[in-house]
Amino acid sequence: MKWKIKIKDIIAKKNVKIEDYYESEYIELHTGTYKVIDKRFKVKISIVFTDDTIVVGGYVSGKVERPCDRCLEMTVMPLEGTIEAVYDLKNEPNFKNSEIENLKNVIYYKGEEIDLEERILEALVVSAPDVFVCKEDCKGLCPFCGENLNENPDHVCKEMEVFNIDPRFEKLLKLKEEMQNKN
Ligand SMILES: [Zn+2]
Ligand SMILES: [Zn+2]
Repeated sequence: MKWKIKIKDIIAKKNVKIEDYYESEYIELHTGTYKVIDKRFKVKISIVFTDDTIVVGGYVSGKVERPCDRCLEMTVMPLEGTIEAVYDLKNEPNFKNSEIENLKNVIYYKGEEIDLEERILEALVVSAPDVFVCKEDCKGLCPFCGENLNENPDHVCKEMEVFNIDPRFEKLLKLKEEMQNKN
């Protein structure tokens, strides 16, 4: 439970710095669940107590295995998230300002400890892209047969020829096939 920090400790110290690893074999992002490379993310967090608020800021970085959205090849995807949160220990939510407060990531808080794991996961999820490609110029897969076009850039698809057949030639083609079958 090393990511749960007691509020009374933060108040006593006023300033807490954490440099550690967040360990996890898998991570669930909005696009799927991925294997974490080295089973850990690097975390740097600074916690400051001031004026009845706790300000949490920092970074989390690491890598996961994710298939390319174009060619489906398993690829290393780096993740770098920013942790930003303000725990307001005194005030109640003011719904008039809720829009502004959402932007500032204000959390109204009455508990005894804050859970940094929630902030780390949130930062990773927010930083993850909707679409991920192995490289910018990934050529993807042949839409007709699924051939990997990065590995075979000169691929000419036989399936594609079938798709493009002029209906007028279809009879001729059938005839040709029949003749070939006879041979
Ligand atoms: Zn790709
Ligand atoms: Zn093809």
